[in-house]
Amino acid sequence: MSYSKKIVQEVNLEFENRLAFVESDRNRRLDIAYEKAPELLKLDTEIQKTSVKILGAAMQGKDGLSEKINAIRQEVNALKEKREKILEACGLDKHFTDYKYVCELCNDHGFVNGQVCICRKKELTKRQLDASGLGRLLDTQSFESFSFDYYTEKEEIKELVSYLEEYVEEFGNNSKSLLFVGGTGLGKTHLSTAVARVLIEKGHNVVYETAQNIFSDFEKDRFRDHYDTSYEMLGDRYLDCDLLIIDDLGTEMVTSYSVACLYNIINTRLNRGLPIIASTNLSSGEIRKIYHDRITSRLFGEFSIQKFVGSDMRKLSKKI
Ligand SMILES: [Zn+2]
Repeated sequence: MSYSKKIVQEVNLEFENRLAFVESDRNRRLDIAYEKAPELLKLDTEIQKTSVKILGAAMQGKDGLSEKINAIRQEVNALKEKREKILEACGLDKHFTDYKYVCELCNDHGFVNGQVCICRKKELTKRQLDASGLGRLLDTQSFESFSFDYYTEKEEIKELVSYLEEYVEEFGNNSKSLLFVGGTGLGKTHLSTAVARVLIEKGHNVVYETAQNIFSDFEKDRFRDHYDTSYEMLGDRYLDCDLLIIDDLGTEMVTSYSVACLYNIINTRLNRGLPIIASTNLSSGEIRKIYHDRITSRLFGEFSIQKFVGSDMRKLSKKI
């Protein structure tokens, strides 16, 4: 589990806001109730005093403690019952002044018994999906929606899909980097998205971006105003995330800067044990022609090459 720092901060803030809202919303209802039934205020003060009584009883020693506590509990219950009756008598619901939490499992704290609550997990995942760069692809492209219909070499693609399903199952530090090679319309993007979706749902920080956009982000960092302290380095997320998916490698404008940048990304991530999935329409010969040996030796030496073979699915699906 490693959500990006920014997302964790956002979610922490979201939960602080939720709690603050629950508190102010309850206070607003409490004011209404006190106005309608001023005797409630006195009753609430009495209920609050009982917790002091419990403390006092505990300090007197263990002798007869449970009986004392039981007696105090009964007293509290009687006071609460009285409170409910007063609320109902002035036409309000007996739960009118209760705290109204979004999540009753954790009372909007985000944690239950030291464990992350399901509501916090959902919020983290939602934001991670939004930040992944996958956008609307996530709506349609999953392992479940992947169709083998258009493939002529069905066995090969089935093998590849099971390999990827196992890959996400066992994903962790030092998972292998993958290079998806094959023409357009052969499902490279679909399967990259499917991998990303499963990993994000498992709590990993996955970033998906085209090669061109990655390099232009690094370019913006390079020409940033060095005196602007509020500037957030755009390139960092490509170096820090658990899995980086680079789409369309080779379609970017190849310059000496983009090549240096790609080398830096590959080198930094592999040294940190953080995998990359890169997809390209180029043949291995074309890759060797475009990129420096330093890059191709890492791509062909340390990435597991996954070939997508077949005819363009988009063309085929139009024929049918
Ligand atoms: Zn919760």
